[in-house]
Amino acid sequence: MVHRYPDRALFLITDRCASYCRYCTRSRVVSGAGEQELQTDFDEAIAYLRDHTEIRDVLLSGGDPLLFSDDKLDALLTKLREIPHLEFLRIGTRVPIFLPQRITPKLCRMLQKHHPLWMSIHTNHPRELTIEVRDALAMLANHGVPLGNQSVLLAGVNDSVPVMKSLIHKLLRCRVRPYYLYQCDLIQGSSHLRTSVRKGIEIIEGLRGHTTGYAIPQFVIDAPGGGGKVPVNPGYVFFHDSEKVVFRNFEGRVFEYPEVLDRDLGMTLPILHEEAFTS
Ligand SMILES: *Cc1c(COP(=O)(O)O)cnc(C)c1O
Repeated sequence: MVHRYPDRALFLITDRCASYCRYCTRSRVVSGAGEQELQTDFDEAIAYLRDHTEIRDVLLSGGDPLLFSDDKLDALLTKLREIPHLEFLRIGTRVPIFLPQRITPKLCRMLQKHHPLWMSIHTNHPRELTIEVRDALAMLANHGVPLGNQSVLLAGVNDSVPVMKSLIHKLLRCRVRPYYLYQCDLIQGSSHLRTSVRKGIEIIEGLRGHTTGYAIPQFVIDAPGGGGKVPVNPGYVFFHDSEKVVFRNFEGRVFEYPEVLDRDLGMTLPILHEEAFTS
């Protein structure tokens, strides 16, 4: 159990996946070939969640939770649903991509009993969205499972605006909302796949305003040393003080907008941006 954020917890329920990604953020733990062994004590984990009433959101991950049998997963979700303060459950999985035949009507009917249950899938390239994957995602969406996608920015794979645009447009057609775009973690053996942070910012800049807002993921860096996900965005604001904000739009046109005093505070603290005006 990783409880890093105030109101939500990451519950690692297995160390197995349908296939393994060499840039995986949990390479050390998964597949049984890593340095660490994942041993989940389910009774202890459930007791922890029951005791911590501030947790309202539990994210099942691993490994891949959909490698559990329907019955095993049903029993776990039922136990979680018995905890009254858990409002929201999610499953992080790459099974709809790597093993789409696992997404069966029986599995979907079981998941449907545990709503609100959301799912985060993981695709990096439009070619991963095959006909079989499209059908699996449609079955999940038809059973009311809201779908999000997480991508990892990979050099030579998806580090360009055209590839990313094609991926996110295909995802929307599959009723999947692009959620996060991750800077590739500092995983041993993955340096050839790593891009610059600048590249990620450039890609987001090439999407925002140029295509459907729903299609645009949030670019994040998972801060090393347990810092959590930090959003990294293109700079649109050139200047901001108590009187005005100066910003640009996606075409580079510059605008000035009046700042006001917030009634509740009676004053605003000036936020000064050092960035120079670039015409
Ligand atoms: C990513 C993550 C979450 C979920 O974060 P959201 O921004 O709410 O999707 C929760 N716990 C840990 C440890 C995580 O890494």
